[in-house]
Amino acid sequence: MERYEVLIVGASVGGLSTGLHLLKRGVKFLIVDSKKKVGEPIQCAEFIPKATLLNFSQHLKKSIRQEVKLMRHFIEGYAKELTCPSEGFVIDRKEFERSMAKELRESLRLSKKYLYSEGEVHYLLDLKTKRVERVRANLLIGADGPRSRVRGEPLSYYMVSAQMTFPLKEKVKELLVFFRKYIVGGYGWVFPKGEVANVGVGIDPSFGENLQRVFRRFLLEVEPLIERGKVLSRTGGIIPSQKPFFGFKNNRFLVGDACALAHPITGGGIYQSLLSGKWVAENLENPKEYKEVLYENFYDYIDEGFKGRLYLRQNWKGEELVKLVLRTWRPLRGFG
Ligand SMILES: Cc1cc2nc3c(=O)[nH]c(=O)nc-3n(C[C@H](O)[C@H](O)[C@H](O)COP(=O)(O)OP(=O)(O)OC[C@H]3O[C@@H](n4cnc5c(N)ncnc54)[C@H](O)[C@@H]3O)c2cc1C
Repeated sequence: MERYEVLIVGASVGGLSTGLHLLKRGVKFLIVDSKKKVGEPIQCAEFIPKATLLNFSQHLKKSIRQEVKLMRHFIEGYAKELTCPSEGFVIDRKEFERSMAKELRESLRLSKKYLYSEGEVHYLLDLKTKRVERVRANLLIGADGPRSRVRGEPLSYYMVSAQMTFPLKEKVKELLVFFRKYIVGGYGWVFPKGEVANVGVGIDPSFGENLQRVFRRFLLEVEPLIERGKVLSRTGGIIPSQKPFFGFKNNRFLVGDACALAHPITGGGIYQSLLSGKWVAENLENPKEYKEVLYENFYDYIDEGFKGRLYLRQNWKGEELVKLVLRTWRPLRGFG
């Protein structure tokens, strides 16, 4: 049986960041992912805040497709358009992930699905041969996203989303965000990426609305901006929308969405996944330190978002939309 110090499950932003930082430390590790190819499919609107460049510029620079400085908000029933700073980039995330994965080629195995563990022995299903394999590793890192098997328990709160990429009729400079009562508990977005845009909606499923119906209605609204008949790609997925899990429990570390680090209102999670991967690699011998660094950097940020999530659930039906938005949407703090 092959033996490693660390097994990382998930080769997306969180797992790849963990791998790159373990590589620097000379740790013997293996990364597995059930996908056939890194970066496919991408479930993302691909916006990252500027601060992400600080630690990951080498891989990010080539992936940047559009720089943005502002976010424009359109709130149903509120005539004024609100604009606030939102410095960052819309990237080609597939290219970003592939650039990171290139450095990890020797430690990366695709088409391998993590099943379960018995102590230090981990069971993987090879999706090509359909054979179950075993590897031994002292530590297990769950970078396996919102439905994490490594975590072993389901999310309590999450958003569901649908997105398509279309050519733009005219270039758009800013991130566009739409609040509508029918986009229950969430919002719609048009994130421009050069000649094209990622267009999507995220809703709170507890309202029982049909996601595809909401999405179709939103597409009608943004039709003047996009070549609606030319769908370039489709995606979607769930986004954690709750308090984070403990970063370490029973010899298992969690990073990124597996640890529920995405922001419960905006759904942004790339930055947190990348950073938590870096921190876990730097604190392998000291889980307490990892928990502390997560707590210090993200806890208040996510906790505030989670309180907003609960508020939206309780008040979506009764309260004026602009009030709900100004109370819970972090980028607009201080407006109103
Ligand atoms: C539609 C949509 C739009 C979004 N837009 C943005 C945005 O614009 N900006 C932003 O910051 N965030 C955005 N997010 C959130 C962001 O995509 C996530 O926070 C981020 O992908 C989390 O990265 P991760 O590495 O933790 O997990 P993931 O990206 O979910 O990766 C998990 C990996 O684990 C693999 N895996 C899962 N289970 C197993 C298993 N049992 N065995 C082997 N492999 C497994 C998966 O194949 C996957 O590759 C968006 C999310 C969605 C759904």
